[in-house]
Amino acid sequence: MKITFLGSGGGRFSSISQRRMTGGFRIDNLGGKNYHIDPGPGALVRTYQFGFDPRNLSGIFVSHAHTDHYNDAEILIEAMTKGMTKNNGTILGSVSVLDGYKKWGPCISKYHQSKSRTVILEPGETNEFDSIKVKGTKTQHGDPVGSGFQIDYNGFKISYTSDTGYFDGLAKDHEGADILIASVLRPGEKSIPGHMCSRNFIDLIEEVKPKVAVMTHLGLKMISNNPVVEAKKISKKTGVKTIAAFDGLSFNINYNNPRKFRLISLKDVESSMHSTSHSLFNSGRRNSYQTSFRNKEFDELSIVKRN
Ligand SMILES: [Zn+2]
Ligand SMILES: [Zn+2]
Repeated sequence: MKITFLGSGGGRFSSISQRRMTGGFRIDNLGGKNYHIDPGPGALVRTYQFGFDPRNLSGIFVSHAHTDHYNDAEILIEAMTKGMTKNNGTILGSVSVLDGYKKWGPCISKYHQSKSRTVILEPGETNEFDSIKVKGTKTQHGDPVGSGFQIDYNGFKISYTSDTGYFDGLAKDHEGADILIASVLRPGEKSIPGHMCSRNFIDLIEEVKPKVAVMTHLGLKMISNNPVVEAKKISKKTGVKTIAAFDGLSFNINYNNPRKFRLISLKDVESSMHSTSHSLFNSGRRNSYQTSFRNKEFDELSIVKRN
């Protein structure tokens, strides 16, 4: 199983400026399936940029109705369903994302929900599909019905807080996590309502005691403050290996020994994808136009003969 960050930025200003990418993260080969979580602005492009294929997704999970989490969901759904021609995959989202709640959402049209299994994520409820169980976890955030989640695969647990402030009971929802991924917007003790700072993350880690902790969704203040130094401080304080996500961070997880892993920094391998790169044509790489031709995906390319 492999986790890859197609972005490590979050919040409005990190997203607008793209100081950090905002494509969310992928979990690949979890029981043989691939999932994309919180595909914010740029998720589709970042997918190719780091050498993945959006057509091999089995699920798209969206935690709440904020642009930095849902922006590219519909186009990824189109990829997952072969341009809405095949029934495939699971779309998991909060009520606001799938149905809409007051002024929040819906973020995915009924049309885009029509070819996949849809699962509404409610804090405290567990849903089972493919070979995983996904439990919704409470959040305290702008979207009142947003939800984090904990994915359980044969007892191996990946927890994702999504955007939330720290509150009593947050740790309870993420209890048992082997890997704890959290939105940590700000450094030090400077938390703002609805978001965690490093101080809050330390408290959460000390209660949950995961094997590995990852902070992502870094805001501008965090980015300027050197998140790597921040993560080292958190590791030292908690005794739990803590990583500050960066764009293109990837690591393989061994279920039996999640503490032992090697961080990989992915190179931007596909930047020449839409150029006239000759090496591309020679190698016939995946994710190229050739794959589209083989799959008969011609709709944009049909040439009309004029009389
Ligand atoms: Zn956010
Ligand atoms: Zn948010």
